[in-house]
Amino acid sequence: MAESKRDYYEVLGVDKNADDAALKKAYRVLAKKYHPDANPGDKEAEKKFKEASEAYAVLSDPEKRRQYDQFGHAAFEGGAGGAGGFGGFDFSGDMGDIFGDIFGDLFGGGGRRRASNSPMQGANVRAGVRITFAEAISGCEKELEISLKEECTNCHGTGAKPGTSPTTCPKCGGKGQVVYSQQSLFGMVQNVQTCPDCRGTGKIIKDKCPNCGGTGYTSSRKKIQVTIPAGIDNGQSIRIRGKGEPGVNGGPRGDLLVEVSVGRHERFVRQDMDIFSNEEISFAQAALGCDLRVSTVDGDVIYTVKPGTQSGTRVRLKGKGVPSLRNKSVRGDHYVTLTVRIPTRLSEEAKRALREYDALCGNSLNQDQEKAAPKESGKGKKKSFIDKLKENFED
Ligand SMILES: [Zn+2]
Ligand SMILES: [Zn+2]
Repeated sequence: MAESKRDYYEVLGVDKNADDAALKKAYRVLAKKYHPDANPGDKEAEKKFKEASEAYAVLSDPEKRRQYDQFGHAAFEGGAGGAGGFGGFDFSGDMGDIFGDIFGDLFGGGGRRRASNSPMQGANVRAGVRITFAEAISGCEKELEISLKEECTNCHGTGAKPGTSPTTCPKCGGKGQVVYSQQSLFGMVQNVQTCPDCRGTGKIIKDKCPNCGGTGYTSSRKKIQVTIPAGIDNGQSIRIRGKGEPGVNGGPRGDLLVEVSVGRHERFVRQDMDIFSNEEISFAQAALGCDLRVSTVDGDVIYTVKPGTQSGTRVRLKGKGVPSLRNKSVRGDHYVTLTVRIPTRLSEEAKRALREYDALCGNSLNQDQEKAAPKESGKGKKKSFIDKLKENFED
């Protein structure tokens, strides 16, 4: 766990108060320098590129940056319980957005589509699913209906009417990008822009396919089975490979990222792998001890409350918490806070019994204090009022 990771600010070479523009600028310089395309086969550059991308992914997100400032790398290394893990976020999933953000303007409005002819993985698609608290504990299967983009069967993705074929865009010569030279204060500047005629595809379709309107894709509603692992927490995502948007130029499909929202439970509150709940006990149960039926996610269990239990005592039911996402047999704990319920309505008979009880103990709180500090009680060999009472009852 304690692998030495460089400080994100240090990685980007910015100070702690750097604003968004400074972060972006620093990252752009590093990303350009270490980008795998610019350093083929250079493992060290690749490592540096990933490191910078990770740092930027965190620091450019206000919420993640706040967490990082507060907790450091530990913020993304799972719950405070240690065994929790998985509390981080999916860097690979976020990278696409960053590239769009950073390289979009770096390469001139083309977004991620940098070289229109090279195979590109399709974009990731996000979806959400709601599950209950219990389903998150046990894991479940959900069927999700999503709109899946497919290659048009009529034109096989070309977008051209069958019998015709797209022609190479004359404006960009099929590159999808055009370079403008501009005179600026700093001399001639070359500006790369997405070709306006073919919108970056490098092809011109004269007769559009009637089935897809020339896009080459059709959308259809598809049912997808999602296996949600036991232990999933609210806000975590499941990646389903190859169910995102179709790739470009023969590239693989993107992924489907399903964000899970977990419903609240009426009695249980979850924190990482632990579960918390409250149980009420009567004064008599607290004083005398009892076998208490306690609700857990595994059903009811019997917990033996010790005599003399104070209100607010928290007890631990080991291994009755949330299973670990990595290993279902590793589980958190369930903490139960025992609250002594003071009755608000008493029958005359009960009131009488309580008064008798109170008289029997004198005042039970005072009695405890006397035990704790007998010298202050000012009690000599003379029998106390309480002792006299006790004698009366023992007779
Ligand atoms: Zn078509
Ligand atoms: Zn063009």
